[in-house]
Amino acid sequence: MRPIYLDNHSTTRVDDRVLAAMLPFFTEHYGNPASVTHAYGWEAEVAVKQAREIIAETIHATPEEIVFTSGATEANNLAIKGVAEAYFSQGRHIITVQTEHNAVLDPCRYLESLGFEVTYLGVDRFGLINLSELEKAMREDTILVSVMAANNEIGVLQPIDKIGELCHRRNILFHTDAAQAIGKIPLMVDHIDLMSITGHKLYAPKGIGALYVRRKNPRVQLSAQLHGGGHERGMRSGTLYTPLIVGLGKAIEIADPASEAVQIRQLRDRLWQQLNIDGIHLNGHPQERLPGNLNISIEGVDGQALLLGLQSTIAVSSGSACTSAKIEPSHVLSAIGVPDALAYASIRFGIGRFNTEEEIDQAAMCVKETVRSLRQT
Ligand SMILES: *Cc1c(COP(=O)(O)O)cnc(C)c1O
Repeated sequence: MRPIYLDNHSTTRVDDRVLAAMLPFFTEHYGNPASVTHAYGWEAEVAVKQAREIIAETIHATPEEIVFTSGATEANNLAIKGVAEAYFSQGRHIITVQTEHNAVLDPCRYLESLGFEVTYLGVDRFGLINLSELEKAMREDTILVSVMAANNEIGVLQPIDKIGELCHRRNILFHTDAAQAIGKIPLMVDHIDLMSITGHKLYAPKGIGALYVRRKNPRVQLSAQLHGGGHERGMRSGTLYTPLIVGLGKAIEIADPASEAVQIRQLRDRLWQQLNIDGIHLNGHPQERLPGNLNISIEGVDGQALLLGLQSTIAVSSGSACTSAKIEPSHVLSAIGVPDALAYASIRFGIGRFNTEEEIDQAAMCVKETVRSLRQT
C-alpha cells in the first residue's frame, strides 16, 4: 500500500476533469495557436483564448492581462526581474518578506548582486507582516513590494488587499505570489498589479502557470526575460503549450474555493483535534490560514526519526520540500520564532480535494503511534 498523500502544498494529483479536457489537444487539436493560416492553428487559438478568459474572469482581470508561463517560479522571476529592469531608472529599492518562497527570495538576492537594495520584512509569531512596518520601509526609490498571498509552509494568509492599497497610495507596484492561494481562497486582483499562479498546486499539471500583469491604473511595464517570437505581447516568448493551458483553465474553472474550503477545513480541523498529543504545537495562525494547511511541531522527539517513522504510512513534509535537501531548519519556522529543535520536529500536512475522513483518521493514528514509540525508546 502506498502512503496516504497529505502533501498537497508540494503538488497535487491532476483532476480527471482537467486531464479529460487536455487530452484532445495532444493528439487531435495539436496545432500551434500562433498559426493563423489554417484550422489547426485556429482550434488551438480558440482553446487558449477560452482558458485565458476563464482565468481572467475568475480573478477580475482582462484576458490581455494574463501571461502564460511554465509555473510560479517563472512568473515570480518575470515579475520581479521584469519590473526591476523596466523601472530601475526610477528607483532600485524592493520590499519583500523573510518568509517568501525561494522563487521570490532568490530573484531578489540576484537583484541585490546587481546593485538593487532589498528590504526583507520580518513577521510576527503567526507569520503575519506588520502593515505599519511595511509603510515605514517604503521609500522614494521603492519600485516594488512583493508579498505572498498564502504561505506554502504554514499557510498564513497575508492581508493582500490592505497591502495593495498601501502600495497604490505611494505609487509602488505590488506583486503577490499566489501559487498556494489561487483556487483555495477567493482572490481578486483589484488591489494587485502582478500575481503569480501555478497549475500543479491546483489539480492541473506541472509546468504551467501564469502571471497577471495589470494594464490600467497603472499600466505595468515589464522587461521580458525570455526573448524570441514575441508571444504573450512580447512579455514571454515561446510557443504556447496548448494542452497545459487548457488544463490550467479547466482547473481554475472547476475550483470552487467557497464550498470546497468548508469540506477541506473540516478535515483539517478533524486532524488537529485527533492529534491530542502532549507537547504538540501549532505553527502559524489559528484562523488566518489556508483551509487545507496544518503545520505542527512535537516536543521531545527527533525530527528525522519522526519523519522516518511516518514515511511508510503518510506522505507529508517537514519544513518546505524545496529546502528539505538541506539540513537547515525551515526559514519560515525560524522567522516565526520556532526554536530549531521544534522546527526539525515539524510536520506540514497539506490536505486536498481527494482526501477522505478515513485517511485523516488513519494519519492521526499513525502520528500518535509513532510519537508514542519514539518517546519510549
Ligand atoms: C510551489 C510554489 C512555487 C513554485 O511554483 P512552480 O510552479 O513549481 O514553479 C512558488 N511559490 C509558492 C508559494 C509555491 O508554493
